[in-house]
Amino acid sequence: MYIRPFDPWKSKLCTCPFKYTLNIYTGCDHACVYCYITSYIPRAFKVRIKENLLPKLERELRKLDKRFIVSLSYSSDPYPTVEQELGITRKVLQLFKRYDVRCMLLTKSDIFGRDIDILSELKCAIGITVTTVNEGKASLLEPNAPRPSSRIKALKKAKKAGIPVYARIDPIIPFYTWEDFDETLDALSFVQHITVSTLKLRPDSWKRMEAKFPALMKKLSPLYKKGERIGGYYYLPRDFRFEILKKARKKVEDKGITFGSCREDYYSHPTCDGSHLVPL
Ligand code: SF4
Repeated sequence: MYIRPFDPWKSKLCTCPFKYTLNIYTGCDHACVYCYITSYIPRAFKVRIKENLLPKLERELRKLDKRFIVSLSYSSDPYPTVEQELGITRKVLQLFKRYDVRCMLLTKSDIFGRDIDILSELKCAIGITVTTVNEGKASLLEPNAPRPSSRIKALKKAKKAGIPVYARIDPIIPFYTWEDFDETLDALSFVQHITVSTLKLRPDSWKRMEAKFPALMKKLSPLYKKGERIGGYYYLPRDFRFEILKKARKKVEDKGITFGSCREDYYSHPTCDGSHLVPL
């Protein structure tokens, strides 16, 4: 089955309402340093297409319980570089339209701007992830992803077309992207919902962070060593984490934007993931 119930590794801290998830591609070439898919997908930064995806998907969509949302995607990006040329995600969206599927789409690309014609006819919400609007930091953290300013421009276009829009500021990295949080939030102040999440490390992403950001990790590693270990992830110490989340929530809500947090054991309203934005 390509469409599966969303189950983030049975995380006891996940508060997402029931939804399905579909990874159109295997792997993701944005190659974010902090990415966690490298811990369970071999050659995770190399994008592969799925065999017979479209005919198989069509069969699955005929039987799908349409009350629930299909979310694109959690272990890949629906818009890797190759999507510009292949247009597979575009064809999936056309299928969604044919079968009246409710969906939400989350990406670090601006390629979705090409598909706004279809997206505006779907019951759907679109979100982008922006860890920081500082282009230099973003290109170090997410070397192959389109620039944050291009993602934001495409999302404004989606909003203009009447599509509900949301954003993730995720991960928040103390002493790094947290320093730019106000600027990042300002640039995203046109969205309806923002989900935040603090950096959670797995052994392999910890190593990549240490290799690329040795000075930063000198400050962060002792904190993570003192922090919590939840479901295979290293978390910041709870007090330190909650102080960031509390400040982030105030800043977001002061702008009249609803706030969610992801796998933090912290407040979200009305949903953590923004799924309340998908029209019925
Ligand atoms: S966009 Fe997401 S899935 Fe792709 S490399 Fe970055 S963190 Fe991993």
